[in-house]
Amino acid sequence: MILGDYLRIDPEHAVMSARIGETAERVWESFAGDRERLQLTAESIRANAAVAPMRGSDLEDGIEFDEGRILTRIHLDRERNATLVATKKRLVMTQTGRLECEACGFDFVKVYGDLGEGFAECHHTAPVATLNPGTNTRLTDLCILCSNCHRMMHRLMCRNSTFTTPAHLRRYIK
Ligand SMILES: [Zn+2]
Ligand SMILES: [Zn+2]
Repeated sequence: MILGDYLRIDPEHAVMSARIGETAERVWESFAGDRERLQLTAESIRANAAVAPMRGSDLEDGIEFDEGRILTRIHLDRERNATLVATKKRLVMTQTGRLECEACGFDFVKVYGDLGEGFAECHHTAPVATLNPGTNTRLTDLCILCSNCHRMMHRLMCRNSTFTTPAHLRRYIK
């Protein structure tokens, strides 16, 4: 049914000037001009669906990237990899002596004292279209964000799922 909707707005096939749903229109705009990313995304969805079928609704509130629920969830799952997140935080602590948000500079220790010690969130910066079950997360794929910036990062990715890094978010903060 949804593919039928796309046929109706695809200029190569359009038989009537149709309105389709807002989400479908956004998804069309996001992929119609970029076949390569579309193919990469489709392959990634298939590969991930084969090993990790959806369980009900386990996404963050209102968060679903244009690439769909499966890849959105894989993104969130990778960020919940406790071992990897701990390793990343330890590395950043050793290198800089603190866990500062890479987007806004927030430091939980500065504001909350010892309660904030060791606290920060990790965000996965690889474009979700490239998330394949076979590829492991590298430490360089992760960045340190405060909780507010992490949520805003995901909202930004809902607008444009190729905007995945703290640098993209910093433009909004400015
Ligand atoms: Zn922040
Ligand atoms: Zn994230």
